[in-house]
Amino acid sequence: MYYAVVAYIIYSVYLFLRNLGKPRRKPQEPARLSGVMVKDEACQTYLPRNEALRDVIDGREYFFCSKDCRQKFLEERKRSAPR
Ligand SMILES: [Zn+2]
Repeated sequence: MYYAVVAYIIYSVYLFLRNLGKPRRKPQEPARLSGVMVKDEACQTYLPRNEALRDVIDGREYFFCSKDCRQKFLEERKRSAPR
């Protein structure tokens, strides 16, 4: 009986350590986030996130309703901060 308890504890510790070694997976963001509205920075329109064009510029996330708006925003940005 005593040995069974010791064996059980060792087994529990073994499982615990084995779980520690596993790389933790981040929960995946659902592809479709319904109901989330994002702002198009070029034309100031709000649109559903899953329909928006997403772009990361200088570490910031931007959303656009169309490629034209994205292009327009990039050009405006270049003009305001020439580098
Ligand atoms: Zn737009």
